[in-house]
Amino acid sequence: MVSLSEIKSLLERLSNAHGISGWEGSVQEIVKEEISPLVDEVRVDALGNLIATRNGEKPSIMLASHADEIGLMVKQVDEKGFIRFIRIGGWFDQTLLNQRVLIHTRSGPVVGVIGCKPPHVMKDEERKKVVEAKDMFIDIGCSSQKEVEDLGIQPGAPISINRTFAALRGDRVTGKAFDNRAGLVVMIEALKRTKSLCTIHAVATVQEEVGLKGAKVTAFDLNPDVAIASDVTVPGDHPGIEKKDATAEMGKGPVVVMADASGRGLIATPQVIEWLVGTAKEFGIAVQLEASDGGTTDATAIYLTRSGIPTGVISVAARYIHSPVEVLSLSDIDKAADLMARALETAPRYFGR
Ligand SMILES: [Zn+2]
Repeated sequence: MVSLSEIKSLLERLSNAHGISGWEGSVQEIVKEEISPLVDEVRVDALGNLIATRNGEKPSIMLASHADEIGLMVKQVDEKGFIRFIRIGGWFDQTLLNQRVLIHTRSGPVVGVIGCKPPHVMKDEERKKVVEAKDMFIDIGCSSQKEVEDLGIQPGAPISINRTFAALRGDRVTGKAFDNRAGLVVMIEALKRTKSLCTIHAVATVQEEVGLKGAKVTAFDLNPDVAIASDVTVPGDHPGIEKKDATAEMGKGPVVVMADASGRGLIATPQVIEWLVGTAKEFGIAVQLEASDGGTTDATAIYLTRSGIPTGVISVAARYIHSPVEVLSLSDIDKAADLMARALETAPRYFGR
């Protein structure tokens, strides 16, 4: 259970850090600190991807885990000091209303709230209607445009949700941005645990939530023999969603993705599936197989690079993703890290030397 408390504190630090797509710097700082002792070299490319390399033998393996979280960005400030915003990444607008947010400026974060008129003055139809993000605004307590601008808030300033990590019962925890700080913990933990002799490039990618961008350029740069993305996936184990909609369950171990986005995203390379599932069997790690019609991951960008790179995904089932109250089971991260660590060791048997 020692490892679970370590996993918990690392996930807590990463979840509480703020790094929307394009502004991953403070997340990357934590990753760099954790990963540097485990590798030979760490560098950051022009987009902000953090690439940590442990030198070794063939095959070379790329691990990709995205560091960015979905967020918002300042669009304009009105004459009364209210701030309009654009969405960065896939939000369900309803989850944004009445959230507390942080607007990040050169001189630090500014607290604000996404307000709306109270139910007392809503007409019946209004109460039933979903408010759209484009009609929402942020109140930071200023009363003029100038006051806001004097704080260094201008169009393009990144905004994240102001919500901190908390423990639920058992090994379950809640927080923002578990998509994909959970994937980062899996990757970092796997590097700590593995005795692999292969060359490993562990990449904390940027801008996944807005088009798999960081993975695309790093896969081209590194040209690995094989790759694994670590991310989160949607479980079908709570009210409002059924097993037939999403087969994974929280607490039942890592998810090996066979295909996602109805095949328009990833169709995992058969050799990679054999490798991951074979390794799981060999080491007695229970895995869940998933074919989904939902979203996709960095793996899709990686496997379509150059002349094609064999790629798969190890995911952690996380409830309520793309909200500030995501929930997961720490044991799933632990087992996913084990699977990745062991797969790094068995890779030469599946991909030659
Ligand atoms: Zn993700």
